[in-house]
Amino acid sequence: MAVVEQRALDVVRGKVESGERLDFEDGLAILEADVLELGELADSARRIRGGTDEVYFVQNLYVNQTNVCRVKCKFCAFAATSKQPQAYTITADELVADVLAQRAATGFTEIHMVNGENPHVDFGFYRDTIAALHDALPDVHLKCYTASEIHHMTTLSGLTHEDVLRELKDAGLGSLPGGGAEVFADRVRRLVAPGKESPEIWFHVHDTAHSLGIPTHCTMLYGHVETYEERVDHILRLRAQQDRTGGFLAFIPLAFHPENTVFERRGWRHTTGTDDLKMLAFSRLMLDNVPNIKAYWIMMGMPLAAVALHFGANDVQGTVVREEIFHAAGARTETEQKIDELVRFVRDAGRIPVQRDTLYNELHRW
Ligand code: SF4
Repeated sequence: MAVVEQRALDVVRGKVESGERLDFEDGLAILEADVLELGELADSARRIRGGTDEVYFVQNLYVNQTNVCRVKCKFCAFAATSKQPQAYTITADELVADVLAQRAATGFTEIHMVNGENPHVDFGFYRDTIAALHDALPDVHLKCYTASEIHHMTTLSGLTHEDVLRELKDAGLGSLPGGGAEVFADRVRRLVAPGKESPEIWFHVHDTAHSLGIPTHCTMLYGHVETYEERVDHILRLRAQQDRTGGFLAFIPLAFHPENTVFERRGWRHTTGTDDLKMLAFSRLMLDNVPNIKAYWIMMGMPLAAVALHFGANDVQGTVVREEIFHAAGARTETEQKIDELVRFVRDAGRIPVQRDTLYNELHRW
């Protein structure tokens, strides 16, 4: 590592050890640093801020009720127009029958559901789906709908974000996933997702959810056209929101998968393991107010996710039965990890596997 980079990283280390908050320049220094140095630094930041040897995972089921979407994000291989043969929209009853059948085969404590922004349904479709899922599985936490989907429901119904969130919460919604954030910088959004809701809307939905006592998650989709400066800007905006409302349960860095998107035709490739580890360390170091950083094995594979536990991550997400969105874009990982395997990887990394619920209450430890 060059002398200048080493000096900048020494400044970061000094700040971490003295509990001083990292700034924009520190964020750049981290992203430009040697990845191996970052692992040790991020892991010590995690411990200094109260982290332990526990590594969390949740037993969850991924479902998608509709892939019909009006937005056409350029990185998306999941969405379809209603005329395409692969388009689907299933009813609440069909979805409930499906998850009950899945429940008979495998246990789960959380349903994670995101969808396309389907212009051919109404708000009742979403509210009734949550109510039907909650009726059928009252002990299962419903982590459903990105901020973009919540905003889409306001355009379908004429309701406000607050009205929509209140109605969904009353029907049984437990929390929101963190998707739709992508990269907040205008330049990036214009290039990869020009039709998507603005960052201001994303933040307003999360801010409103937190004020209603609905916890949420936050993400960044990295590894496409964004610069290091834009990554730092994104993470600082999330940190400022967390300062205001404290409702983010976890941050999940999402690696861009180019297959079956326009980016594949332009020669883009999957992110490298080095960049994936760097992003985990960077997010742990910068997000001093978000307690949990997830190594999302569905993208990076379990072997690298286990290494990521030494780069600031303390959560490997979940058992993830039937993930479709990243697999449509070329994820080569399994769609499901058996608990035994998660436990084996976590233990082998020298950590204590702890099964949690969505809100990070401990359910079981090994
Ligand atoms: S990422 Fe979401 S909003 Fe964008 S096209 Fe895909 S399904 Fe639609």
